[in-house]
Amino acid sequence: MSTPSILILPGDGIGPEVMAEVRKIIGWLETNRDLKFDVSEDLVGGAAYDAHGVPLHDDTMARAQDVDAVLLGAVGGPKYDDLDFSVKPERGLLRLRKEMDLFANLRPAQCFDALADFSSLKTEIVAGLDIMIVRELTSGVYFGEPRGIFEEGNERVGINTQRYTESEIDRIARAAFELARKRSGKVCSMEKANVMESGILWREVTQRVHDADYPEIELSHMYADNGAMQLVRAPKQFDVILTDNLFGDILSDCAAMLTGSLGMLPSASLGAPMANGRPKALYEPVHGSAPDIAGEGKANPIACILSFAMALRYSFDQGEEASRIEQAIETVLASGARTGDLLGAEGGSAMSTSEMGDAIAAALTDSL
Ligand code: NAD
Repeated sequence: MSTPSILILPGDGIGPEVMAEVRKIIGWLETNRDLKFDVSEDLVGGAAYDAHGVPLHDDTMARAQDVDAVLLGAVGGPKYDDLDFSVKPERGLLRLRKEMDLFANLRPAQCFDALADFSSLKTEIVAGLDIMIVRELTSGVYFGEPRGIFEEGNERVGINTQRYTESEIDRIARAAFELARKRSGKVCSMEKANVMESGILWREVTQRVHDADYPEIELSHMYADNGAMQLVRAPKQFDVILTDNLFGDILSDCAAMLTGSLGMLPSASLGAPMANGRPKALYEPVHGSAPDIAGEGKANPIACILSFAMALRYSFDQGEEASRIEQAIETVLASGARTGDLLGAEGGSAMSTSEMGDAIAAALTDSL
């Protein structure tokens, strides 16, 4: 296969700071693991607005369509709050997701042992937790028509429509089953088939795809409200959770916070396979641009580094190197190293963004 190409879009606020640490890890892989990446960089969000008057230039969009993976830092900040909706920094990110047709959003909730105390749940409930939420991202109630606020008699009515076609359910179910093949072979699909027709169709199509093409995967179905309850009661019963856009929005935030800080959470958004077999892909930390700490060297770069590890696993078939990075992070955290967001109530001294990147690179070297 050709050299993997990556377009880095650092964005705003802490985006460039955490992305600098990803560059460090890419450099480490190139030096020590005989891997080569074709890395380019461009602007997105407020940074693109400042340069071009739009949050994503057409040329950048075209480059994003052309590479194997896009790596994004974060967008937004108070400087841009009063801009017209059409040019707000977030519109740049939404355009990327929409035009690349990234229909599968992968949100892992993985609890590093050293941070198990950080969860709001008891340590034994979250220690060793490793689940993946696969959320449908481009359809469902956030996009369905009709939508709007209408006059009805002498009052107004707000309407949104939950809508899923069979092919939309089919492709997201396949994404979840493929993922499960690389993990423990278990998928739990969540909807509300008890009260929603779209849920009935979701369950039917998911089961059909399973029976036809993934019979070896253990598939279960659960009502999403029960799913939410089970996630906080006994999250380790799950491996891959497959769900729609709305329920996925809520369940993935809930699952993510089982594991502690926003500075630890990666994500991937995948689309259809390209000609070279790699999926269209955008990798980004879940957190935003954190204007309150931007420019101070306080940001935790781990979410962004873990997002790059996801790129290695899902775009570049380098699962072993992804695990090496995750293990290095585990080692660094186990040694007590912490950025400010991970200090907790007992306090201690915080390391800087770049010190954390250095520590992870050093742990990678030690792993050889
Ligand atoms: P945020 O995620 O930027 O910050 C929330 C809190 O978490 C802040 O206290 C921040 O300091 C902290 N935090 C976040 N990431 C951290 C990290 N890596 N290390 C240490 N601490 C971290 O959310 P917000 O404050 O609601 O939004 C700030 C800006 O970011 C807004 O303009 C918002 O629109 C934008 N935003 C962008 C994205 C994105 O780019 N995907 C996502 C969410 C918010």
